[in-house]
Amino acid sequence: MIIVTKSSKSILAKSKTSFFCQSCGYESAKWLGKCPSCGSWNTFVEELIAKEESNKTEWRQESVRSKTLKAKALSDIETLDDVRLSAADGELNRVLGGGIVPGSLVLVGGEPGIGKSTLLLQVGLQLKTMRVLYVSGEESEQQIKMRAERLGSTSENFFIFTETNTKNVFLAIEEIKPDLVVIDSIQTLQSNQLDSAAGSIGQVRQCTSELMKFAKETETPVFLIGHITKDGLLAGPKVLEHMVDTVLQFEGDRHLTYRILRTTKNRFGSTSEIGIYEMLGNGLREVSNPSEILISQRDGPLSGVTIGTTIEGNRPLLIEIQSLVSPASYGTPQRTPTGFDHKRLNMLLAVLEKRCGFKMGMQDVFLNIAGGIRVEDPAIDLAACISIISSMEEIPVSDKICFAAEVGLSGELRAVNKVESRILEAEKLGFEEIYISKYSHKSIDFKKFKIGVKSFGQLNEVFQDLFG
Ligand SMILES: [Zn+2]
Repeated sequence: MIIVTKSSKSILAKSKTSFFCQSCGYESAKWLGKCPSCGSWNTFVEELIAKEESNKTEWRQESVRSKTLKAKALSDIETLDDVRLSAADGELNRVLGGGIVPGSLVLVGGEPGIGKSTLLLQVGLQLKTMRVLYVSGEESEQQIKMRAERLGSTSENFFIFTETNTKNVFLAIEEIKPDLVVIDSIQTLQSNQLDSAAGSIGQVRQCTSELMKFAKETETPVFLIGHITKDGLLAGPKVLEHMVDTVLQFEGDRHLTYRILRTTKNRFGSTSEIGIYEMLGNGLREVSNPSEILISQRDGPLSGVTIGTTIEGNRPLLIEIQSLVSPASYGTPQRTPTGFDHKRLNMLLAVLEKRCGFKMGMQDVFLNIAGGIRVEDPAIDLAACISIISSMEEIPVSDKICFAAEVGLSGELRAVNKVESRILEAEKLGFEEIYISKYSHKSIDFKKFKIGVKSFGQLNEVFQDLFG
């Protein structure tokens, strides 16, 4: 028998539960097997909501009124560009659109172990004159100290606080008065306003909204670290993307040394910028001239190796494509691309077979983009085709030649975007010739270049020219 007394009744009335899709944050009053919003199965989890307080946040209500509830004349509002804080890290400044905007909420997402903590620890330590509060729910003070020592950098204005409760975080903020706050990670934070566990959709959203309020009122920039798992099942940054000002994605293979910091959302700048880093024993090194490291050092031309051009963000990059073609010993031949789209490789092989007469049917084909990066730019098609045939025929291609053209289904070479900046990058890196599509012609001012530009309409013509 259950006796509901007057007092317990009022407690019951206060709390309310709701079901949240842990993948996209969709809220439902009852449990659902399939999420109507994102279509995932079995992602609904019941979360307790402290109803009475749910519209209150830890960050003080009173100050909201004094600071934000006032209309301002447009002419009284400062232009943001003038007040951006410049990080010592040039790549970070670039992806943020020219520096850190005061009061901005920046989410740095990525898979665990990719180096998000290292990146933000390093950024914080480099801001010597600014007070930085690094809140960690992931590691102990000693671990962070050891990590900072490995980075070989120290700052008197850098504060570490290991805490997961937002109330305590805001108390520390009031005491330290930081110029920048880093939260490592948003999944470990917990607000007293909700009863659900840290890392659940409800908590992640609540903590983010408290931090956003704090950032906007005090004009203090806040960086949030958010983990993404490959299956996307963890209460993830996806839910937060619409709440924050800027989303940066930290990518790369954790076994390889290169990392790319990519803007996927930015209220204060363009989303087409990327930053490139190299992970070293003592931290992340900015790579300001990425082409040089993506092209391996070699003494002379090798068969199966070609250089293609791609555009990452707004920057042209020269990348190395390596192919290995060998007769398939038995059964279905293997097609194994790394850093290159599988379907695209199959398409190019079909074009080589059908339009150019190469017998690809009984060949194993391995194609690799050097440096562990992934390229989706179709402008590397021509370089990929040449690389495959170069390996199959065992004829090396001169290491002074590079390529920039898309290959169409009839074996034609198609024009690519920003061809001039690709040519200029090739010239800068000491290439002597670049092969492009003849349909790029009209848009090019050839007088600009010292490098030889050869243009062709068909893939066959390029083979004729290179291999005779
Ligand atoms: Zn969903």
